[in-house]
Amino acid sequence: MSSWSIQDAENIYKFQRWGNGYFKVGNDGNLKVAPKIDEPNLQIDLPEIIKEMQEDGIEFPAVIRFHDILRSQVTSLNKTFKRIIKESGYENNYMGVYPIKVNQMREVIEEIVDAGRPYHYGLEAGSKAELMAALAYNTNRRSLTILNGYKDDEYLRLALLGRKMNRKVVVVIEKFSELKRLIKLSKELQIEPIIGLRVKMMVKSRGKWAHSSGERAKFGLSIAEILNAVKLLEAEQMLHITELLHFHIGSQLTDIRSVKEAVQEASLIYSKLHQQGVPLKYIDVGGGLAIDYDGSQSTNDSSRNYSLDEYVSDIVYGIKQTCELQQVPHPIIVTESGRAITAHHSCVITKVIGEIKRTGTDYDTSNLPDEHILVSNIRDLNNLLDDDSDNYQEVYNDAVQIKEQAMNGFKLGILSLDEVAKIETLYWELLNRIEKISLKLSFIPEDIKEITESLSSQYLSNFSVFQSTADSWAIDQVLPIAPITRLDEEPNIQCSLVDITCDSDGKIDKFIGDENEPIAKNIPLHPLKLDEDYFLGIFLTGAYQDVMGDMHNLFGRLNEVHIFSYDDDPKDFYIEEVVKGSSAKQVLTTMQYNSEMMAKKVKKQIDKQIRKGRIAPREGVRLIDFYEESLASYTYLK
Ligand SMILES: *Cc1c(COP(=O)(O)O)cnc(C)c1O
Repeated sequence: MSSWSIQDAENIYKFQRWGNGYFKVGNDGNLKVAPKIDEPNLQIDLPEIIKEMQEDGIEFPAVIRFHDILRSQVTSLNKTFKRIIKESGYENNYMGVYPIKVNQMREVIEEIVDAGRPYHYGLEAGSKAELMAALAYNTNRRSLTILNGYKDDEYLRLALLGRKMNRKVVVVIEKFSELKRLIKLSKELQIEPIIGLRVKMMVKSRGKWAHSSGERAKFGLSIAEILNAVKLLEAEQMLHITELLHFHIGSQLTDIRSVKEAVQEASLIYSKLHQQGVPLKYIDVGGGLAIDYDGSQSTNDSSRNYSLDEYVSDIVYGIKQTCELQQVPHPIIVTESGRAITAHHSCVITKVIGEIKRTGTDYDTSNLPDEHILVSNIRDLNNLLDDDSDNYQEVYNDAVQIKEQAMNGFKLGILSLDEVAKIETLYWELLNRIEKISLKLSFIPEDIKEITESLSSQYLSNFSVFQSTADSWAIDQVLPIAPITRLDEEPNIQCSLVDITCDSDGKIDKFIGDENEPIAKNIPLHPLKLDEDYFLGIFLTGAYQDVMGDMHNLFGRLNEVHIFSYDDDPKDFYIEEVVKGSSAKQVLTTMQYNSEMMAKKVKKQIDKQIRKGRIAPREGVRLIDFYEESLASYTYLK
């Protein structure tokens, strides 16, 4: 028996490092979810949820949403601001908003608004459709509705409609021309908006989204434009409704220095404008609060080098200090954290359906009397390789040479297919043995390291990268991936993942690594068993991934379950809602197909075969039924 412990599983998959306390390995080797930050003893067994889903006939892959995690994240952000505002003696409040674009699912929005109600936590919209959702669902009269993004007249009219509904709608001016149109419409409809000005910051963020900030940013007003805006608003007698100063330097800010610098710059602009008589009441620092996807607590693109406490402190103390130096009142602080609110609450569960070995299969390599010398030579190498001595490098070099010679020999017609198959099989056997020897070494030569790479397997998993983990494909985002059972058993197969799309990009080969190699090409997983399902969790998919998926290969949306914890239940949870994923019919409809027409066309062709006597009538009917059932069924593999 190996001395594997669940702590070793934790060391590999780092649940505690990226999980914010929500995920933990149980003594039984199952992954547990503790969905309430302040009740760590309330633990749900993730495999138990899967079992219940299977019993209910819900097919995988599926998204599991933990509503309690969503609520915990909203509460923890608001409470942290409250606490640090109190500790620091800051003389105003925090009033955050959640940016809808990060996860627009209605149930997500409803839960966030509900959990945020005690804190008057609001919503941010970046488009007309999002604004319409915000108008309907942000029902708290005291919370903010902040509007970003480019705006046409219809967008502005909808914003003014919100003001008619007595909502605190702030129209953030991203572009000077929007201001002129807003003033005109406001006079026409005789409604006063609340105006926000987005400033184009001089500081640049660091990391993937650096281009969202700085002078060439897409959004925002330069200092000169801000001053012109103030002049215009004054002339139009609308300066008194100019209440918010906004900036957003990018998403996933990996380095806390960017936050500090931006807060400093923005609070100075706020102070100077205030001194000039602009009655600003709010500073909105935008989004950017990052997630430590790889658990490295570093400035890696998929990490962050700060805690929530540090982020909040730097904002609160940063604004406070500048305001005191400039002798202006402390503004209400607004943030638009999206990723940090939603990333943890959902995960994708996919079943591994097969292993693709790159290393040859079982093949009879026994000796034939007149076999080619190359076959004998590589067989001899296997005998020569000594598990305890250091001739592995020499054996490896010879094996590589024989394999090359064999390929040439085959092309010249000297070797038979059977002989090539034997050489290939013996070659991979050798490499497997050499790899085992190398794992015991303190220093591994470069060539030999590559063996591990070439020996690694691919686990074929029932999901689509393009639908469920878009950012891992588009921007090399690392997402935590781990088995959810057998964590008390050593995972001794190094593999990467491939999905079921017909696209060679449909793979995941970036995983959480270790100190030496922060991003690993492989992840250790368990050998598959014939009689047991092996499920993997892809975690932290609640921000962006959930809603950015596309229709590549027409796979479409996943089945989804919404989980609530419930202490009085024997399993501590219940499935509150099941949202069905896409059927073949649905995805085809989005591409202009008509499923009834398709069924008719297939029926016509089958009827023709029946008339010709190639299909029996009874069988024909069955085939047509089968086609129609398939149209109505789930797009993923069964
Ligand atoms: C995208 C966006 C956000 C959300 O950013 P996160 O990094 O997810 O917190 C906030 N504000 C604006 C203006 C945005 O465009």
